Amino acid sequence: MSPDIHEVYAIRYAHHDRMASENYLHGDPHDILQPLAYFVWAIVGPHGTFVVDTGFDRAMADRRGRTLLRPVVEGLKAINIAADRVEHVIVTHLHYDHCGNHDIFPRARYHLQDVEMAYATGRCMCHAEIRIPFETDDVVAMVRKVFDGRVEFHDGTEQIAPGITVHRIGGHSKGLQSVRVKTQRGHVVIASDASHLYAHFTEGRVFPITYSVADTLEGYSTLRKLADSLDHIVPGHDPQVLERYPAAGPSLDQWIVRLDVQPTAAHALT
Ligand SMILES: [Zn+2]
Ligand SMILES: [Zn+2]
Repeated sequence: MSPDIHEVYAIRYAHHDRMASENYLHGDPHDILQPLAYFVWAIVGPHGTFVVDTGFDRAMADRRGRTLLRPVVEGLKAINIAADRVEHVIVTHLHYDHCGNHDIFPRARYHLQDVEMAYATGRCMCHAEIRIPFETDDVVAMVRKVFDGRVEFHDGTEQIAPGITVHRIGGHSKGLQSVRVKTQRGHVVIASDASHLYAHFTEGRVFPITYSVADTLEGYSTLRKLADSLDHIVPGHDPQVLERYPAAGPSLDQWIVRLDVQPTAAHALT
C-alpha cells in the first residue's frame, strides 16, 4: 500500500425520520419525509486506523428520540476494527451525535479544533438556544480527556498523518472541522456537518442549527476546493450515501459503505 493511500468507510449507526422542512433554514415547500442518517467514519491505511467521530449510545438515542440501529462498536467490529485498540479519533465537532460513547476508545488520542472546545465551554453555552445540540456530559468528558493528556488540539488546517488533514470550516458549529483523505480515487472529504445533506452543498442551502450562515456557505466553497470533485464530498447525515457507495462486505448493505471506491455513475453529481 502506498504510504498515503487510505481506505475510507462510512458506518451508519442511527436513523431519524423528519420532515424536509426541518432540514433547511427558512423551511422547504415539499411536505415530504427527509430522514437523517447518523454516521461515524473510519480511515484505514499504512499509519493505522483513524476513527472520525464517536456517535451516540442507546441511552442518548432514547433521550433524543433517535433510533439506534447498530452500536458504533459493532459497526467498527464488522470491518475488523477493535475500538479498544484505536489510537486516533478525530472529532469533527462537539454536538451530541458526534462525540458520545466516551469510553469505547480507551487508548485513543482525540483530535479537536481549539475553537470548538472554546465554544463549547465558553460564554455561548450560557444561551439555551445555542446549547440545544450539545450535551453537558459530552463536553465534560472531553474536558476530562484534556486533563488526562489525551486531546491534541488543532488550529485551522493540520496534517494528522500523511494523506490525512483536518480543515476548520466552522459555520454549523463554530469550530467544526472536516477531514480530507487521500484515497485510490483521489482526495475524499468527509464533510461531517459542514454539509448535512447533498442538497446543502449542491444547492447552497443551510441546516437550521447554525452558528454562522456566512461561514456555512463559505464552507461549501472550501469543501469543493479540498475535494477532487463533487463526488468526493461526503455529507454528514445523508441516507443517500448508503445508496451511492458500495457496501463494504456481503452482509453490510445499508450499514457500512466504502467511500474510497467511485460512486456509481448513475448517481454522479452535476
Ligand atoms: Zn452537528
Ligand atoms: Zn450531526
